[in-house]
Amino acid sequence: MAKRFSPDQYVSGILAGDRVMLSRAITLVESKLPTDQDLAQTVIDKVLPHSGNSVRIGITGVPGVGKSTFIETFGNYLIQEQGKKLAVLAIDPTSQRSGGSILGDKTRMESLSINQQAYIRPSPAGKSLGGVTRSTRETIILCEAAGFDAVIVETVGVGQSETAVHAMVDFFLLLMLAGAGDELQGIKRGIMEMADAIAITKADGSNISKAKSARAEYQNAIHLYPLAASGWSPKVSVCSAIAQTGLDTIWQTITDYLILTQKNGYFDKKRRDQNLQWMYETIRQGLEDNFYSHQQVKDQLPAIAEQVKLGQKSAFAAAAELLRLV
Ligand code: GDP
Repeated sequence: MAKRFSPDQYVSGILAGDRVMLSRAITLVESKLPTDQDLAQTVIDKVLPHSGNSVRIGITGVPGVGKSTFIETFGNYLIQEQGKKLAVLAIDPTSQRSGGSILGDKTRMESLSINQQAYIRPSPAGKSLGGVTRSTRETIILCEAAGFDAVIVETVGVGQSETAVHAMVDFFLLLMLAGAGDELQGIKRGIMEMADAIAITKADGSNISKAKSARAEYQNAIHLYPLAASGWSPKVSVCSAIAQTGLDTIWQTITDYLILTQKNGYFDKKRRDQNLQWMYETIRQGLEDNFYSHQQVKDQLPAIAEQVKLGQKSAFAAAAELLRLV
């Protein structure tokens, strides 16, 4: 087992912006060992007053839309043009199925990964969505305490992970392609409704005019949605990660959103609501873990499940019987 430090050693390292200590603390957060989790919670509690000072941006889009290329270009823009320190985190619960983490690919974000102002952390493969979500949320806090004032959380726009990411960021950006059709892009309407902005990417070469007409189409479609609680109407723009265009517009959109929502109180309300949601989720997860790790439940569950399968016992009676064991 890797060396463990005292909570104060982690905390002072993180607050000093020590990337090695930051990585070690994130490893604790990702660990399943109860002693590591206790240590992680102590560290998080201690750095919490130093967190919260970043803009948290969620980025989603189907595989191949250009997320990693965009994050590399946009990330460098944020660092060079906006003076940001950027952390890039990834939620990739699909990695198990696709056999190998699409987000852990070494060739992704090459220039960003060697930039001293950037910190990139792929999510560990093979974890459940709940596990990845918890560790990502806690990692955001650790990164903020280490001085990162922009956090990008990347996810693949095909499953439930967008909802989880939406619940932990301030601003949600959806990347799309021109002329691919919504079905083809696997984007559910719900995801479009979550977006604070849509960027039609790969708007370069012969694709520029197609991208511009897609922008008009999406902007029209979005106008039909009911006004969001934030008071913000989502914006659609075009960009190219390769030609490095449209980045200013996207950053301006994010800035406008922050100004509006900080003024009307939505920004703080959303973060408070997210914290509350996080608490309930943690409780639910804890109850579930407790239940399934209980020895009697482990012993009796297979036989009782079999009885339900064979129609010898009702689902409700079986559940009640198991719940009584804890
Ligand atoms: P991801 O799966 O969403 O992370 O997509 P990638 O960033 O890996 O990009 C998928 C492919 O699209 C790669 O071959 C990229 O080179 C290409 N690509 C990404 N962004 C652009 C862009 O702005 N313009 C063009 N022409 N190609 C792009």
